[in-house]
Amino acid sequence: MTLNCPDCDFELIEFDPGSGIFHCPNHECTFIYFDKNTGKKYRKNEK
Ligand SMILES: [Zn+2]
Repeated sequence: MTLNCPDCDFELIEFDPGSGIFHCPNHECTFIYFDKNTGKKYRKNEK
């Protein structure tokens, strides 16, 4: 299963296999990570 960043469309990278935490490898992107366990998406400058 692959997930793409909703902002820049880079392929998200899982921090640790099975962790369910995916981060965007694009450093210029404001999207930080997606937690598949909770469904929450984290972006810079967003609470
Ligand atoms: Zn991105």
